[in-house]
Amino acid sequence: MSKLLTIAIDGPASSGKSTIAQRVAERLEIAYADTGAMYRAITYLLIKNNLLLDDEAAIQALLDRVQLSFVRQGNQQALKINDQVVSEELRSNEVTSLVSKVAALSVVREKLTHLQQEMAKQQSIVMDGRDIGTQVLPNASFKLFFVADVDVRAQRRYKENQAANRKQSYEDLRQEIIDRDHYDMHREISPLKKASDAIEIDTSYLSIEEVVQEVLKVVHPI
Ligand code: C5P
Repeated sequence: MSKLLTIAIDGPASSGKSTIAQRVAERLEIAYADTGAMYRAITYLLIKNNLLLDDEAAIQALLDRVQLSFVRQGNQQALKINDQVVSEELRSNEVTSLVSKVAALSVVREKLTHLQQEMAKQQSIVMDGRDIGTQVLPNASFKLFFVADVDVRAQRRYKENQAANRKQSYEDLRQEIIDRDHYDMHREISPLKKASDAIEIDTSYLSIEEVVQEVLKVVHPI
């Protein structure tokens, strides 16, 4: 069997990871996993079931019975939670404002890290998140770390929100990005960090296609 190709893309919120990861996966005809969507799915379930973040036993019980898998929806990727396909539900302001706290819980990280590692054992994959190059796939074939100016990132997210009819002021959204990055970078377990062997790309002033080309230059099928 030929060696599997694993590409880890990490970086702060709205640095372009998901858009680029999905396109790179399409070009290389390999799988793509948006690990942020997995943390959002658990957050969505905790909210839906009225679970408190300090109720570890209840969260563990929920994690034990949840099944997550990625499915195609048109030309986008969606997530299936048990039998329910979700996408827009995961992008609500409520989920976005709580997800970093949920992602800092060790029970949640253990479960999702394991699932992500299993996905990468079965197929060649592009995986994007915060700890892919450092914790989930420390031996990934290629590691990239995206950065971008906070105002550029806030503008991108603001446009996306407007297109999807999500209501949030530009100022609130910009602050939410700053707070979430800070929380993700300073948590105890698997903080957002550039792996020492990751290649950094500043996506601030590059088009989507230019970033895809930068990544493809780094990545070549092995
Ligand atoms: O990428 P996205 O913005 O959807 O991620 C949502 C949140 O999920 C992040 O702010 C972070 O708290 C958490 N996350 C994580 N580890 C990952 C992916 C996402 O902690 N690998």
